[in-house]
Amino acid sequence: MTDEIFSRDAYQASTEATVVEVRDDGIVLDRTVFCARGGGQPGDTGTLRWDGGETRVADTVRSAGEVIHVLEEGAVPPPVGASVVAEIDWARRHTLMRTHTALHALSGIVFTDYGAKVTGGNMEPGVARMDFELDGITQEFGREVEAKLNTALQQDHEVHVSFIPRAEALMDPDLIRTKVSLIPETVDPIRVIDISGLDKQADGGTHVRSTSEVGTVRVVKTESKGKANKRMRIELADR
Ligand SMILES: [Zn+2]
Repeated sequence: MTDEIFSRDAYQASTEATVVEVRDDGIVLDRTVFCARGGGQPGDTGTLRWDGGETRVADTVRSAGEVIHVLEEGAVPPPVGASVVAEIDWARRHTLMRTHTALHALSGIVFTDYGAKVTGGNMEPGVARMDFELDGITQEFGREVEAKLNTALQQDHEVHVSFIPRAEALMDPDLIRTKVSLIPETVDPIRVIDISGLDKQADGGTHVRSTSEVGTVRVVKTESKGKANKRMRIELADR
């Protein structure tokens, strides 16, 4: 199995690695800093360099538990056994880390202050949407949540990554609320992202170290997507 460095350290932008497998759908490495698409976060992009070659990674996906580095169309893959330097597009990833952390803070605030659970979400670098189990939504509500969100982000809550036994995770109220039970039974321990005092959920993505690093967030749109499904669109102010 690939050593998934990004799951412990989201700030490592490159690593040396060995090519374990070259498949039709991409490259498997013995270790990687490339985070696979999942939970609304797009897969990393970047570059693989080796003695005599270089290729672009267009996407990163997970297939049957493996992290697959998907190459650009027609790219020449490195040979099996090659030593490569795997490097992500750091600016893009860091923007995703800020965007992802903003979504967690948003979901924590909307649950704590309004009692509404998340029903879905998605993000691109600097822009994201999140759907909530709310009966109604107004622009005024959006402005109110935006103010609360920015206040919370500026309070600089630390973001902790931990791995906890599945049995323990299944008894944690915060993790139950965020549907930890839907994670496949083979996953144990479970990775947990805890934004101290704000939000806690099982998550496979990458986040910043503390909320001030997110910067200022704008709620750019509020809309109804059906009964008990209301959408907020957010963006990073400096994107
Ligand atoms: Zn997440």
